Amino acid sequence: MTRNSEFSQNAETMAETRTVEDVFDDTYREKEGPKPPRQIVWRNVILMTLLHSGALYGLMIVPSASILTLLWAVVCFFISALGVTAGAHRLWSHKSYKASLPLRIFLAFGNSMAFQNDIFEWARDHRVHHKFSETDADPHNAVRGFFFAHIGWLLVRKHPDVIEKGRKLDVHDLKADPVVMFQKEHYKVSVALACFAIPMFVPWYLWGESLWVGYFVPGLLRYATVLNATWLVNSAAHMWGMRPYDHHINPRENRFVALSAIGEGFHNYHHTFPYDYATSEFGSKLNFTTAFINLMCSLGLASDCKQASPEVVKARVQRTGDGSHKTG
Ligand SMILES: [Zn+2]
Ligand SMILES: [Zn+2]
Repeated sequence: MTRNSEFSQNAETMAETRTVEDVFDDTYREKEGPKPPRQIVWRNVILMTLLHSGALYGLMIVPSASILTLLWAVVCFFISALGVTAGAHRLWSHKSYKASLPLRIFLAFGNSMAFQNDIFEWARDHRVHHKFSETDADPHNAVRGFFFAHIGWLLVRKHPDVIEKGRKLDVHDLKADPVVMFQKEHYKVSVALACFAIPMFVPWYLWGESLWVGYFVPGLLRYATVLNATWLVNSAAHMWGMRPYDHHINPRENRFVALSAIGEGFHNYHHTFPYDYATSEFGSKLNFTTAFINLMCSLGLASDCKQASPEVVKARVQRTGDGSHKTG
């Protein structure tokens, strides 16, 4: 069976139950001829260099930070990571569950703390990533190599097809969510507060940490760590690992990425069943985000978690898997 007909079946199966534009579109064709020239965005190159230098310095001064400050940096790591994984990714990009207003506000706050573009842009780019995965229209097309998929895509102008396809994507649900639009409107202020000021001032105000350590450890070091953990999903989890659910696509099952990106490394499963709120058939195993969503459901703050049934997963494994599937 050809790659495209496999994707058609995949698309058909999901189109029955899905309204979100995150299903692979096999009708798209890359334009013939030479690729458009690469245009470097020097502003981003300088900012990313400064950030990673600052994060490296933050790592060096970790021994001078108090235990409470280090614990605070870990708390900030989890809040910002959840703003991406449980928020921009599983809730807003894929609509894989429903979240109450207080939870959406918390996730939007975490998302500003993660400073990875606002929810609207993140979710639109991510839907384009699924719909046109590993083509010119994929914002972080992993066919262009590890560096491009990891960070390079943020250092150059987008391929024209990414912009064109992104514009045509249905994002009415994002526009209809006042939390998404409020964060978009006040994005710069929210980032200044959530990503930099709060991580820095809380340890200074509550237990007398120096502002210097507060800025470089829970601030820059934590920020760069969350960024790289997220980017590993686009780079490493599109290159290294097994493909038990669909060996025709590049995304892989990568446990290291699952651990560092709090549950987002089961990427062969996720691209095969993008509507599944757990992004894995193994629940909370190596998957802090799924455990968090489960907790929110038990508190009545989240509901309607969508999942691929064991029968659907089993049939798919038998039809398109690479033979590496394990049951736990
Ligand atoms: Zn996704
Ligand atoms: Zn992916």
